[in-house]
Amino acid sequence: MTKPFDRVALIGIGLIGSSLAHAMRKHKLAGEITGYARSEATRAKAMEISLVDIVFPTAAETVKDADLVILCSPVGTYGELAREIGPRLSPGAILTDVGSVKGAVVRDVLPHVPRDVNFIPGHPIAGTEQSGPESGFAELFINRWCILTPLPDSDTGAVERLADFWRACGSNVEVMTPEHHDLVLAITSHLPHLIAYNIVSTAADLEEVTSSEVIKYSAGGFRDFTRIAASDPTMWRDVFLNNKDAVLEMLGRFSEDLSALQRAIRWGDGDMLFDVFARSRQIRRGIIEAGQDTASPDFGRGAPKSQ
Ligand code: NAP
Repeated sequence: MTKPFDRVALIGIGLIGSSLAHAMRKHKLAGEITGYARSEATRAKAMEISLVDIVFPTAAETVKDADLVILCSPVGTYGELAREIGPRLSPGAILTDVGSVKGAVVRDVLPHVPRDVNFIPGHPIAGTEQSGPESGFAELFINRWCILTPLPDSDTGAVERLADFWRACGSNVEVMTPEHHDLVLAITSHLPHLIAYNIVSTAADLEEVTSSEVIKYSAGGFRDFTRIAASDPTMWRDVFLNNKDAVLEMLGRFSEDLSALQRAIRWGDGDMLFDVFARSRQIRRGIIEAGQDTASPDFGRGAPKSQ
């Protein structure tokens, strides 16, 4: 049984913050939950649906007496928030985050963290394309990985306690360096989002194909990209601005491979196309075997509603 935290402060109460609030309540991981969001509307909604015990209009007030503080806003906000909360953090507290990049988070947050606070960056590899305080659910983290990127001098007891917290939320925990995290996520998450945003934008700009046709025939594959491309624009702008090097490295490799496919199509090299497509199919099978997606046809969507 994981020892609950006395007071957990959520800085940001959107999809990830509200899912954490639900998971903490369900598994009794916090004596009290405090929350901060910048808008009055989000703070009011968080109280109305009892996500947190109390909301505050400033991050500094929210972290008072907290033994666990979790940054759950877009990564571009972390530096300023850390500067504000740094002097208010309790000695011995754990400060963590859920941001989708890690190197830039260490760069922006660490300078503001007092020596007696345990700063342990983290990233749950779990999400949906929804945002806001009503989008969260307790099961979001179940059977998903949570990556922790402790610093070389992080207290091992604090790292283990945070790992236990994520396990209690249903996650598997992996530890790696921030640099390795950023490289892995560049290919598994950031590049797929960039490609999805780009393909939707290219389709939107086409003049020979009407937008009603793009929507009407989207079941041919396009709609699966639109789900990813519906993700929060602020969050994703911040991801690309803060994981520039790794994304550009992966984009370079991707462009080379795309050119090879382009050449194979031009020269009618069916063997090459077949080999690439067959290997990709194997990777999909591996994801299903690892329990990271459903094996049901069409992602288990079932028949669409009749028009
Ligand atoms: P979200 O649903 O859009 O919620 C963002 C929260 O941050 C809201 O409470 C928002 O307050 C607050 N916020 C936004 N801009 C702010 C600013 N300038 N200053 C202070 N607070 C601000 O976002 P999310 O999907 O939960 O993502 C939060 C973090 O989780 C991001 O760092 C993201 O990289 C990471 N993450 C996301 C996913 C995913 O799939 N979505 C997965 C893993 C990790 P208001 O409501 O008042 O605007």
